[in-house]
Amino acid sequence: MYDEVEMPVDYTNFTWRYADKGYYWDNKIKVDDLFHEGNYSSPFLIPKPETTSYIATIPFKGSPELFTLFAELPVGDDDESLKAIVNFTNQYGLITAGLLMDTGHINDGISNYLNTFQGLSLDFYLTQIWQMKNTFRIWNWIQEKNSSMLSKVITWTNDNINYSFGEPEDLDIFNSTGIKYDYNSNCLTDLKGYIAPRTQQLFDMPNHKVFTDLVKDDYFFIAQLIVQQTINKKLDDFPVKHRLLLDKNKKLKQFFVPSDLLSCMWFQFLQVVTGERQLRQCAYCHKWENVTDKYASWKYHSRCGNNARVKKHRAQSK
Ligand SMILES: [Zn+2]
Repeated sequence: MYDEVEMPVDYTNFTWRYADKGYYWDNKIKVDDLFHEGNYSSPFLIPKPETTSYIATIPFKGSPELFTLFAELPVGDDDESLKAIVNFTNQYGLITAGLLMDTGHINDGISNYLNTFQGLSLDFYLTQIWQMKNTFRIWNWIQEKNSSMLSKVITWTNDNINYSFGEPEDLDIFNSTGIKYDYNSNCLTDLKGYIAPRTQQLFDMPNHKVFTDLVKDDYFFIAQLIVQQTINKKLDDFPVKHRLLLDKNKKLKQFFVPSDLLSCMWFQFLQVVTGERQLRQCAYCHKWENVTDKYASWKYHSRCGNNARVKKHRAQSK
């Protein structure tokens, strides 16, 4: 029997696990790629060898705004980024079931009893963070009615619509230099030290001229399509299952069950997009807070409100 009793959104059911002694980046491990193809470059994030157990969490209950923390992780391979990803993983676990790792440390005397762990590469983490960050940013620009930023993301071509994911300052440079987007090059780099935004077509196939003309310059409509398409694609890759389960009263009810932490976070995002869950940024610490059950006037976390008043008082008494 599944216990959904205290969950704020009662049609989800999901628990996830994290290693009790935490995770670390390892450069030495090898991928057991019996079932996986492709190049996986180091480092990999794996549980520490001294792991003794895995601790369960219920993200929908404890962290309904978890995807916003994930979207705010830095996207880089510097120490600060590596550390931020470890901290996130120490608290919530790996974002999906990882590849099976041969830890390669037998000669160092470091091993668990099978000498294998699940782990994920830094490349994988950075790609996932980057996609969440950009999609959430577009969603926030829709909320802020920021057509100026959206017009830098969305461009019309003859028979299709392109959109670009990238840092606002990079989008600025690209717009001001008038460089043509090339959606075939997924990752153009290094224009005067800036990273080229990655550009995609809104429609897989060209020949959408009638439609693209019809919605010319409607940035908010197109931005919603981008958010919709991206979330749907992510939920294809990291699915949420629709399941019939017994509720706390032993009655059969329908539940949505994410397959991993990534699908859980994209589903949380989906709930925000549909308005089932409302988020607001604290005016003091700028963290996103779930305000679905809070007063409409909610502005600060209670501790942040105190800090803001103290700061204001000090400023006035100077
Ligand atoms: Zn706050």
